[in-house]
Amino acid sequence: MTLPDPVTFAIPAFVLLIILEALIGRFRPEKSRYETRDSAASLFMGLGNFAIGFLNFGLVAAVSLWVYEYRIFEFGYQWYAFVLIFFAEDFCYYWFHRLSHEHRIWWAAHINHHSSQYYNLSTALRQTWTGGFAGTWTPWLLLSFLGFPLPLIAFQQGVSLVYQFWIHTEAIDKMPRHFEFFFNTPSHHRVHHAINAKYLDANYAGILIIWDRLFGTFVEEDKSEPCRYGIVKQIASFNPFVIAFHEWWGIISDVTKAKTVKGAFMYMFGPPGWSEDGSRMTSRMIKEKAAQRLSPPQPQAD
Ligand SMILES: [Zn+2]
Ligand SMILES: [Zn+2]
Repeated sequence: MTLPDPVTFAIPAFVLLIILEALIGRFRPEKSRYETRDSAASLFMGLGNFAIGFLNFGLVAAVSLWVYEYRIFEFGYQWYAFVLIFFAEDFCYYWFHRLSHEHRIWWAAHINHHSSQYYNLSTALRQTWTGGFAGTWTPWLLLSFLGFPLPLIAFQQGVSLVYQFWIHTEAIDKMPRHFEFFFNTPSHHRVHHAINAKYLDANYAGILIIWDRLFGTFVEEDKSEPCRYGIVKQIASFNPFVIAFHEWWGIISDVTKAKTVKGAFMYMFGPPGWSEDGSRMTSRMIKEKAAQRLSPPQPQAD
């Protein structure tokens, strides 16, 4: 069965919405901030992701079809397969995304999406170049094993990518309450892109925010704590090659200087910010430090 590619259909809407949002920024700068070099870098990253996706497709398809040989169900293209994959694909997305923030080897492939200090629709185009190489596509093999045909998986991934475009904006404050409860929204995803201590490692959702609520990673946007965007250690570069590869270079540099085998292992698979001498900070350390600042030690009773 041939299914349409949702991303191809959405491209004209992407372009029009970016122009519209940039125009809004002319009149309401607090609602939309653009920097031409930043958006150009994002666009270049998006085009690069598209091109590299073609190269990766053969490998991903071959492995997926091999796993599909061992499928446990036979969903085919029944109507309920479209309903089930909506939830199942989003579940895989949540775990891909969470693992991409928790382990440096995948963070190196995902960090580019967070590297902009701006948060606008063009940021959504800032997609990975190295995810295929890092194997960040493997969580979706679960869908092949469950028995979803590859074209259906690819279709739903496209739907998810298109959905996630519109949430990269400051122009929308909050959606209606019930929508905010079930779905990922601009407010929830602003938190995900924010580097404020209380917002780190939160809201990994693709389409449905319910996974974050279920697995304890949901954080509500707090109006008294405006989001600051980017990565903890800003790279301050608009060069797409620096954006795509700087963290990989960091891993190679750390691993070659590691004093122990455990150290080398942790530089690859430990949390981002982990270091042998503890001189850098992981998200957990940043959160703990912020919590200490907020609640100074209480005097002892006696
Ligand atoms: Zn992320
Ligand atoms: Zn994003």
